[in-house]
Amino acid sequence: MPLTLDSPLNTVPDLPTRMVKALEKEGVTTVKDVLLWMPFRHEDRARTDPSGFQASEIPVCHQVIVTKAGTKYFGKRRGAGTFEAQVEPAGDSLMGGQLMTLRWWNMPFMSRVIAEGQRLIIYGKIKDWKGRLSIDHPEYEVIEDEEGSTIHSGRITPVYRLKAGVAQKTLRTATWYVVQALGDDFIQDLLPRPSEKGEFAGWSRARSLKVVHFAETMEDLEKARRYLALEEFYSYQLRVVRRRRAVMESGGHAHVAGPLVQDFEKALPFEMTGAQKRSLLEIQRDMASNAPMNRLLHGDVGSGKTVVAFASMLGAVESGRQAALMAPTQILAEQHFQTARKWLEPLGLNVALRTGTRAEEGGVELFTKKMSDKNQIVIGTHALLHDEDLVKNLGLVVIDEQHKFGVAQRAKLIQKGNTPDVLVMTATPIPRTLTLTIYGDLDVSTLDERPKERGKIITKVRPTSKQADAAKFLREQLEEGRQGYIVYPLIEESEKLDVTAAKKGYEEWSKLLPHFTVGLLHGKLSAEEKDLVMRDFRAAKIDVLVSTTVIEVGVDVPNSTVMFINHAERYGLAQLHQLRGRIGRGEHTSYCVLFVADKDDEAKSRLAILEETTDGFRISEEDLKRRGPGDVMGKAQSGAAPLKFAELLADTRLVRLARQLAEKSLDADPLLRSPRFAEIRPFVFQDDTSQAMMQ
Ligand code: ADP
Ligand code: MG
Repeated sequence: MPLTLDSPLNTVPDLPTRMVKALEKEGVTTVKDVLLWMPFRHEDRARTDPSGFQASEIPVCHQVIVTKAGTKYFGKRRGAGTFEAQVEPAGDSLMGGQLMTLRWWNMPFMSRVIAEGQRLIIYGKIKDWKGRLSIDHPEYEVIEDEEGSTIHSGRITPVYRLKAGVAQKTLRTATWYVVQALGDDFIQDLLPRPSEKGEFAGWSRARSLKVVHFAETMEDLEKARRYLALEEFYSYQLRVVRRRRAVMESGGHAHVAGPLVQDFEKALPFEMTGAQKRSLLEIQRDMASNAPMNRLLHGDVGSGKTVVAFASMLGAVESGRQAALMAPTQILAEQHFQTARKWLEPLGLNVALRTGTRAEEGGVELFTKKMSDKNQIVIGTHALLHDEDLVKNLGLVVIDEQHKFGVAQRAKLIQKGNTPDVLVMTATPIPRTLTLTIYGDLDVSTLDERPKERGKIITKVRPTSKQADAAKFLREQLEEGRQGYIVYPLIEESEKLDVTAAKKGYEEWSKLLPHFTVGLLHGKLSAEEKDLVMRDFRAAKIDVLVSTTVIEVGVDVPNSTVMFINHAERYGLAQLHQLRGRIGRGEHTSYCVLFVADKDDEAKSRLAILEETTDGFRISEEDLKRRGPGDVMGKAQSGAAPLKFAELLADTRLVRLARQLAEKSLDADPLLRSPRFAEIRPFVFQDDTSQAMMQ
């Protein structure tokens, strides 16, 4: 009987019984359990240097015999010794006589693992110190028999991230025999067969799953990984496209913009940028159609998303429906409210603010300022979602800083309402390569042009010890009538400690700047207190605002030209860029100083890009390079797909191919929700956070 995914391990030919037992003890009992345990990297152990041990910058693999082993102690403190094993090349005597030392520092238990006479496979960088060759902390495996040596060396070897109790070699041996025994069609393809030509000609799911463990060449390995990544992206895109089509078909309303929008534009104190006009047109086109809009307005901090949002809202109002703008925080909702009143009330529109807090599970408290049935424009926080009447009559909802809202909330809104048009705004400058994945179910408009008449921002990374100079500089700016922010950091996610640091900072700066008014803003203040502080700051009654990161999003005080960020090393580039976006919003040149610990050269070099550019897209590309797409995505939108092959996400070609295949599959079968997904789920999406995306 041929081996299947569900075959128990004791039916795998040649797999030693003791290994089956060892794996069973850890709950690894079937072929599937082994096969779907992906290696997290491979070592090219095919590259054994035949000329023997040689110093090299790249790690190499050798099979060796241990000729001597023991622990050396230095100084008086016993226990903190170095375990050393002297080895010579195993096998042919061609290079006999060559010796090398393997060293493990502070790992006394090594004396119980490695002993004279053993055969080892080692992997690491060989150092040459005055002719003496050594490797510190090599990867190693003890080889018990000749056969084992062909599985674990002389080839491209998979390395697995292990759970307790499973040994590397045991798992690899099991995978080896499983892969040998499985036929060519033990598993169905998920993907519609990619074309007979193309990159994946000749590849199948079965082949990829085998090759991703044991590959003959690095090229094959890469192809197998890409194939599996394509599968993964495909199943993700299937959900995205299905969801997108469902929204499109759920019936919306046509909202046609009329003269109000022109009046609005004329009354603005500035001319909209080309990008703003283009985005507005794209939005209006969507809104005018009967299908519901589902669009992302994507623009760097300060690119002027708010104006576009308000102009869009007028389209709904002119069609006799209400429009809502939902902000992630109270402060922002209030700021938008003030802007709306300034710009929209003169047009004769009725603007309301609605914020509130969820008192506890089940109970919703709303406090409402100035509310009536005929509010055409409603601004608020997520409390808006609980107003059934409003939600029913919504023509358009704009969601600001959408990463603070979950996909689920968005879905809820669409369900409850009469399928309003949805415009999502984000200032997280996601690299273009990732938008298709992160926002695959949205159409995207990008504000890639900054409003002119904008002062520039000069950014410097400085050691904390230079704060005294900085204080002097700040004083000069304040004397010229400018304002500033001093940001106290994130302390390990603890809001309480943040507040303490900010309070202390507030006291220090109050002393340093005796002739100026220093304000304090943090998350522990009540909504009213925060509002008061922000209002005073905006009215320039406060000169310097000491704050935690609560000012992160959207706050707009153009007269603020200085920002000091303490412990800048604790932030990601994107977050610093967002914070910095609070300055440089007026006509004056602005200054951002990022303070890092005095000797932190790593932080200095990481943050250097912020000195070079204020282009959020460039910064996010840099972030992407440094941290990989998985992390960038994680920050951009928690709940986005945690992908096993995330590093390939930057590969636009692959993501696009996945998208095309998904569109094609759904064209052929609009209800495609194959049970086959259940099968790949545990292997592809392992994270709970993915559940939100699975619906
Ligand atoms: P963000 O995209 O970060 O939300 P805002 O919408 O808050 O940016 O706009 C930032 C500032 O720029 C606001 O003060 C806004 O009035 C101003 N602004 C927006 N568009 C323009 C423009 N085309 N020309 C000049 N100033 C603009
Ligand atoms: Mg904004």
